[in-house]
Amino acid sequence: MGGDRIPPGWKSMELSLYSEIVMQVTGKSDLGEVLEQKPPGVDLGEFLLRSKAISHEELAEIYSRLYKVPYISLKDPSELDAELVRQIDPVLIQRFFFIPFRRGADGFSMTVIVHDPGNLGVLDELERALGCRINAAVASALEISALITELFPEYSGLMPDYSDEGSDQSEEDIQLLKGESEDERLSHGATGEEGLTESSSPVVKLVNRVILTGITERASDIHFEAYEAGTKVKLRIDGVLLDIREDIPRSLSSMVVSRIKIMSDLNIAERHLPQDGRFKLRIRNRDVAFRISILPSIFGESAVIRILDKQAMGFSLNEVGLSVPDLMRFEENIRKPYGMILVAGPTGSGKTSTLYTALKKINRPEDKIITIEDPVEYQLNDIVQVPVDVKKGMTFARGLRSIVRQDPDKILIGEIRDEETASIAVNAALTGHLVLTTIHSNNAVDTLGRLMNMGIEKYLFASAIIMIVSQRLVRKICKHCQRLLDRTEVVAVAKRHRWLSRYDYDIDSARMMIGDGCLFCNHTGFYGRIGVFEVMEMSDNIKNMILRDVPSTEVYEAALKEGMIPLRDNCFSKVAEGFTTLSEMDRVTRL
Ligand SMILES: [Zn+2]
Repeated sequence: MGGDRIPPGWKSMELSLYSEIVMQVTGKSDLGEVLEQKPPGVDLGEFLLRSKAISHEELAEIYSRLYKVPYISLKDPSELDAELVRQIDPVLIQRFFFIPFRRGADGFSMTVIVHDPGNLGVLDELERALGCRINAAVASALEISALITELFPEYSGLMPDYSDEGSDQSEEDIQLLKGESEDERLSHGATGEEGLTESSSPVVKLVNRVILTGITERASDIHFEAYEAGTKVKLRIDGVLLDIREDIPRSLSSMVVSRIKIMSDLNIAERHLPQDGRFKLRIRNRDVAFRISILPSIFGESAVIRILDKQAMGFSLNEVGLSVPDLMRFEENIRKPYGMILVAGPTGSGKTSTLYTALKKINRPEDKIITIEDPVEYQLNDIVQVPVDVKKGMTFARGLRSIVRQDPDKILIGEIRDEETASIAVNAALTGHLVLTTIHSNNAVDTLGRLMNMGIEKYLFASAIIMIVSQRLVRKICKHCQRLLDRTEVVAVAKRHRWLSRYDYDIDSARMMIGDGCLFCNHTGFYGRIGVFEVMEMSDNIKNMILRDVPSTEVYEAALKEGMIPLRDNCFSKVAEGFTTLSEMDRVTRL
C-alpha cells in the first residue's frame, strides 16, 4: 500500500527533526551509526524497527510526535466504541489495518487508529470508503494486529504477523508440508541447485512472499510469466488477471521456477517438457493446497500456481446468486431421491462451488455421500471424498465404478469429461442415486449435445437428468467505491449497449452503479463475484422433445415457455439491482 509520505524528500532539516524525536522517545543518543546505514527512500522509523533498534511501541510514539496525532494504547479494549466497530465492514478493517475509534461530535468525522499515520494514501482511501472526514491516531502495529485478531478471529490467518519484532516473519511463517515422496524430493534437490531448500534463501523467501500475497489478495491463481527482461508475476482475482508489479529479475527467473518444482516434487533437471504437480503449505496454522503447472516458453519456463483455499468456501445457496424463483426450483430438485443434476459452464465459472453448496444443504446423517474430484478442492464433514490421480491410474471412471459398489445415496462427480464416466454416471442416476456433476459446456442445450457426442443414448440421459443449471460468475461492484450513475451516464451506457432497449428499463428510475476504483479493490472497481444462472428443469414435455429429436432451439423455446429465466435476464437483474455493471455482463455472457 504505497502512498505519499511525510517527510517527502528527506531534506536534512526534516531528517534531523525526525532523529531528534527518535532520541527523545528512545532515550538513545547512539543511533548515529544505525542511521548512517539507512538506505534512501526507506522510512527512518521502519528502518530502525527492522534493525531492532526500537520497539513497535516506540515507533508508534515516534509517529505520534512526528505527525502530531494522539498515541493510543489498545491494551484496554473497553476504551473502544464497540458499536462503531460493529458498524464497519470487518473486511475493510482487516484490509486497511485500522481500528475505528470515535465518531466526531459533528457526525461527519471519525478518528481511526492506524500504525502509520504518515501513509496518507491509506487515510485518503479510508476517507472515501467510510464517507466521512478521517482523523488519525496511532497505536503500535502489534496491538492493532492483536485487537483485530481478537475482534475478528476469522481473519487471523490473513493478518500481517507482527508477533516477532523486526524479523521478516511474514515470509518465514510458511511451512512446506512434505508429500509421501520425500526421498525423491531430496534426490531432486541434490541435482545442483543450492539455496533452494533453506528457508533463509532469498529465492525461497521471494516465492513465499508472492504466495502469501496471492492468498491475502484472494487470488485463485498466481502466474509467473517468463519474458526476456525477467519474470512477471500476475494474480487472477475475481476471474481477471492483475499485474502486481513484483517483477523477478532474469537472473532469478529459473531459480524461482526450480523452487516451485522442488516444492511440488517435480524434476528440476527437466526444463523442456511441461510438468504438473501439487504441494501443500501450512500458512499460519492453516493448511492450503496448491496445484502447479509448468510450461517451457521461449524465454524460460512459465509457472502457474492454483490456490485451492478451503477457507474460501462457506457461502449458502442464497448467497450464490440464484434468483428467488430459480432458488426454489434448484432446492426442490436437489432434494429428489435420485436422478442427475448437471451444472454447465466454462472453466472457472463457479460450477464446483455451487455443487458443494448444494451438497452441504442436503447432507444428512442418514445418507451416504461420496465425491470423486480432481483435485479435492474443499474438505467437507461427514462426506467420503475420493481424489482422482491419473498418474497412479485412478481415473474418474475407475473411481466411480468402485464408488457405486460402496452403497452410496448421493454421488458428486467433479466433472464429466469422457464417455465412460458419463455412462457410469447416467447409470447410477437411473438406479436410485442422486448424481451431482459438472460439465464443460455453454448451456443446457449445449450439454445435451455434448452427452450425445459422448455416445450416451438419448433415451438414457433424457430419463436420468432432472435439472441442468448453466452458470457464470460476474464481478461484484466494490462496495467501498461504488456510486450511482447519474442520468447522463445511464443514457451514455444505454447507447453503448444497444440491446438494452430489449429490456423494459426506465432510465429515469435507473439504479445502475459503478465502482470508481480504490485501494480496497486494487483500483478495479470490483470486489468478489456472484453467480448468474439459467435453471432448466427436465419436464416430461422436454424429455419427449429430446426423444423425438426436436431441434435444440425448439427445446430451448419450450423451456422458456415453461418458465425458465434466461441467463442474460438473470444477469441483467443483477445490473439493475446495482450488483454489477453492463460491461461486466457483456464480458461474461457475451451477446
Ligand atoms: Zn473499490
